[in-house]
Amino acid sequence: MSQDASTEGDLRNTGMSLKHDREWDYELDRIVEAVEERDATKVGLQFPEGLKRRGPAVADDLRSLTDDDVTYMLSGQPCYGACDLDTYLMRRTDVFVHFGHSPMKESDKIIYVPLFSNVDPFPIMADSLDELDVGDVGLVTTAQHMNRFEEMREWLEDEGFTVHTRKGDDRLTHEGQVLGCNYASADIDADQVLYVGGGKFHPLGLAMEHPDKTVVIADPVNNVVTVADTEQFMKQRYASVHKAMDAEKWGVIFCTKIGQGRWDVAESIVEDNDNAYLITMDEVTPDRLRNFDMDAFVNTGCPRITTDDGPQFHKPMLTPGEYRIAVGDEPLDSLSFDTFHGTW
Ligand code: SF4
Repeated sequence: MSQDASTEGDLRNTGMSLKHDREWDYELDRIVEAVEERDATKVGLQFPEGLKRRGPAVADDLRSLTDDDVTYMLSGQPCYGACDLDTYLMRRTDVFVHFGHSPMKESDKIIYVPLFSNVDPFPIMADSLDELDVGDVGLVTTAQHMNRFEEMREWLEDEGFTVHTRKGDDRLTHEGQVLGCNYASADIDADQVLYVGGGKFHPLGLAMEHPDKTVVIADPVNNVVTVADTEQFMKQRYASVHKAMDAEKWGVIFCTKIGQGRWDVAESIVEDNDNAYLITMDEVTPDRLRNFDMDAFVNTGCPRITTDDGPQFHKPMLTPGEYRIAVGDEPLDSLSFDTFHGTW
């Protein structure tokens, strides 16, 4: 999942007290301007999960700033990334505002409001120097810290590093940005990468995708520095693959979310395996799959559902690459992180 502003900077689950005021800039002026410019009468607002509770207040503020004939509608669909636009609501509105993620694909109708974190990354970056060798280093971060990226680069340069950055592919908006499903920005010419951001899963994916590099995590949210260790994660994935090796009936999930569809991947699995059944769905949850009498599942949608929520499903849930291993098409040591490229 792309880390959204709802989890980034949120210390409630860590047992730590909030150190930083959390005031997001909802960029109301930009929205009002678009509403007026387009003579919009219907406006859709989509928030990531943790910020949905702010929706009504944002709608109230916008109401007070625009004409009475403008109707604001809140999306109640789950939302974990810019891959996850509420297309139903979007089609029925003149302006559609997506909060909390940077654009995956621009469109005239959509206004993306990224909601940058206001956590200061530099104290924890200073701590991370103990784990880095002065020399070449790659720098990556999530969309929430992107507003400080140039400062981070300069800070590292002042510390004597040669900083390598790149913009990954179309799925990423910014240079140095990573998503939970795309680490192409770390494809740089350095043996070590500094990841600045909250959470463990992004850097784990990063370390799996670039096993030749040391990934140092400077987490300004939880205030810790760690070095990504993929061993535990790999063990969990191998265990799932092993469990699925005897499977006969496979459920192949095709996710209908706009930025999560990998039709070719799903189709090729079903074409090659008479015991594989294509299942289409938007939200992939254990409850929704429980009634399917399958021995195992392959998820062609968001890779993080497979890796982060995998153990909660009643049957093994594999990535497409892991499926190939489980059915014997690929060797066990080809196990790699599932990534997503391009948009729609
Ligand atoms: S598909 Fe990628 S961007 Fe979308 S929720 Fe999953 S990890 Fe995040």
